[in-house]
Amino acid sequence: MTNRHEILWSPRVSLAKIRQFYIKEARGICDDELIEEVGIGLLARCQSIIEFTEACETGRVRCMRCARQGQSTIIQRNMKKPSALLQCPVCAWQVRWRIYKSESEKADGQLHGGHALDAFTRYMRVYPKCQTREEKIIAIDQLIHEFHWFLIKENQPAKANKPAGVNLLQGNIRDVFNLLNELTYGEKTPPELIARKKWWLEQQKKKAGRK
Ligand SMILES: [Zn+2]
Repeated sequence: MTNRHEILWSPRVSLAKIRQFYIKEARGICDDELIEEVGIGLLARCQSIIEFTEACETGRVRCMRCARQGQSTIIQRNMKKPSALLQCPVCAWQVRWRIYKSESEKADGQLHGGHALDAFTRYMRVYPKCQTREEKIIAIDQLIHEFHWFLIKENQPAKANKPAGVNLLQGNIRDVFNLLNELTYGEKTPPELIARKKWWLEQQKKKAGRK
């Protein structure tokens, strides 16, 4: 018996929504509703990424059925057995690990946090504490301009690889790059966003120089 249909993850945020967010922000007319929609959507997605990554890396699997009831139950899987049965001691939800993994990999976009996990974790910590709209905008902007980092040699700074946006935003790597490169800002844009864009372009230049 399997309860695989209960394996559900938060979707990626649409590129159109992000574009709209920046266009409105540049004009100084980004409403709180849109900020929250993007901010909370990214938060839910980060939660899914962290949860799945943890299940893969540490074997701590959060019960999907309990989670829907607002309860957090961790099932420790046997990491040595790819087919180990995950069984929730609280609600009896059960699924084999290989099913959990394959269903999750079929889900919307890349779920494994890879070398951008710190960025997702930081956003999870920062966004819920943001008080003002400007703080929220800066947190969102920072998250979607992150990269998966690439360590070439010990003692050398890591290099940017693919954008962390591939985990967060709909579309392929090219779509995400194009969107972020095309973003333009207005007079009311916070200076942090302009500095971040400059930084983002510099990382890409270094990346190109590597080849
Ligand atoms: Zn459960």
